[in-house]
Amino acid sequence: MGLKKKTIIIVMITLLVGLLSSLAYFKLQDKEEILNLSYNQFIEKMKAGDVKNIYLVDEPRLKGTLKNGSSFATDHPRTENFKEILLINNVLVEENKENIMIMNIISFVGFIIAFGAMGIFLSRQSSKQTSREFSKMSNMEAVDQGDIKITFENVAGNEEAKENIMDLVDFLQNPEKYRKYGARMPRGVILYGPPGTGKTLLAKALAGEANVPFFAVSGSDFVQIYAGLGAGRIRSLFKKAREKGKCVIFIDEIDALGKKRDGLNGNDETDRTLNALLTEMSGFHENEGIIVIAATNRLDTLDEALLRPGRFDRQIEVGLPDVKARHKILEFYGNTKPLGTNIDLKRIAHETVYFSGAQLENLMNESAILAAKENAEYIHKKHMDKAFYTVIAGEEKKDRSAISDKDQEITAYHEAGHALMTKLIAPLNKVTKVTIIPSTKGAGGFSMNIPPDRMYQTKKDMMDHIKIALAGRVAEEIIFGEENITTGASNDIEKATQIIVSMIKKFGMNKQVGLLNYDVLQGMRGTGADGEIIKEARLVMGKLYEETKNIVYGHREILEAIAQELIEKETLNEEAIDGLIKQSKLYNQEILA
Ligand code: ADP
Ligand code: ZN
Repeated sequence: MGLKKKTIIIVMITLLVGLLSSLAYFKLQDKEEILNLSYNQFIEKMKAGDVKNIYLVDEPRLKGTLKNGSSFATDHPRTENFKEILLINNVLVEENKENIMIMNIISFVGFIIAFGAMGIFLSRQSSKQTSREFSKMSNMEAVDQGDIKITFENVAGNEEAKENIMDLVDFLQNPEKYRKYGARMPRGVILYGPPGTGKTLLAKALAGEANVPFFAVSGSDFVQIYAGLGAGRIRSLFKKAREKGKCVIFIDEIDALGKKRDGLNGNDETDRTLNALLTEMSGFHENEGIIVIAATNRLDTLDEALLRPGRFDRQIEVGLPDVKARHKILEFYGNTKPLGTNIDLKRIAHETVYFSGAQLENLMNESAILAAKENAEYIHKKHMDKAFYTVIAGEEKKDRSAISDKDQEITAYHEAGHALMTKLIAPLNKVTKVTIIPSTKGAGGFSMNIPPDRMYQTKKDMMDHIKIALAGRVAEEIIFGEENITTGASNDIEKATQIIVSMIKKFGMNKQVGLLNYDVLQGMRGTGADGEIIKEARLVMGKLYEETKNIVYGHREILEAIAQELIEKETLNEEAIDGLIKQSKLYNQEILA
């Protein structure tokens, strides 16, 4: 309470002083209205004897008063005999800048005080935060897994990663056995892969199976602006862990402290934190029974120092689940739920390419919530469908009254463009759903397009992907004209750019730029490679856009049909889209051919 009051007072003083000083400043600047005179106008007035005085200071604009009392300003001619001319014309020359200075000093001091107060206020806030961080740190205890101990049973799919981690269970339980043989077990393991693929889950399962405490922290917790704090936190974490004896320490987002040091964006603080971590890791005895598991989305950005032998020398990939693993994960979370008979988890596994384990779990959970809300006896297909939407695009926006008919029409043509293009050029892709229902995450609608589950992507696949992404904008342009294209394509453009750049930089798929990896070359400045990549990307993108435009233009009739149906029904599934295509005159002529 007292603290809050003090804060309020400080803020009030800050505001008040700021206000007063700006008042003082403005008072000086324009006492009343200032008459702006050109130099010629000023000379005329002076010759007519209208000028009372002038403040002769070394500034581009000079100020003074006319005999009628009004203030004026004019340009400083900076000629040598200007003062003489003024004096000859009976103008009072005020060189003594007291007046001006005093005003300036008042406002200057005012600002200083204001900033000072602000500074004190802010530093108090941050030192409060610092102490909060400290107390958070000292309170850090092993995370209690409670009664529901996580074991490898809880991890579906991810077989290789699981096996790899299982090896470590024995090491944690019987470190002496390994010591006897002179074996050195890894002190650190890095799990890398996309978010939500079960890295945390695996680390917890290791602790659960080995029956040892589990300490969890996140690399981003360590990133502090205050010198030394991060390193201190690392040391105290390890101290706590050692007190427990055997344990698993889990560091999420290790990249936050262990980014590659390229000398350019080096940051002393993260360096110190990283060094503390490395020191602690080499500090504990090899067979002490402590394993540090770190997780990151990207291995290639990590500092090599982390990956050296004796540190995180075991690296395990945890990838997105393939169709079999997806099926297993869906079954794992479906087993405990009343699923209706019309739910085919195998089919859903096929439709959920690129879903992470976390998204699949989310899908099952959302469906269950929807069914519960309706007091339905079972989870039905319609619940799954709706949950599917939520997982992909966020919650459906309930209040759609603010969306104009025009916006809806634009969205309809845009999404119809994506769907049509998919059907025309990539018939193996599934278009499971097209909708113009906006989501709360800001999407106006979406067209769900699932490529077949395959290990590699061909150059054609990637170019098709780009064309499908561009088809939304293309449809807008064809229907509403070039002047009326909208901001709705920004995500599509981002995606298309990502694909084209990786084709050129990474996959050697551009003849002009050649078979080079431009990330490897990055250090070689002045090669002009960046310019060439951008030039080539722009060229290819332009070509693909034209091709897309030609294709969509040639099938305008179907585009219209899909868009109109979307405006009416809001959501279309694959069968409905296929139906519309089959009805079109163009269908028999070419699509079947
Ligand atoms: P990460 O650490 O890779 O970002 P998590 O381990 O935190 O991902 O996963 C988040 C959640 O997703 C888990 O709590 C679990 O519910 C679910 N999940 C992810 N992968 C799997 C999997 N392979 N098997 C079962 N559940 C999974
Ligand atoms: Zn789009």
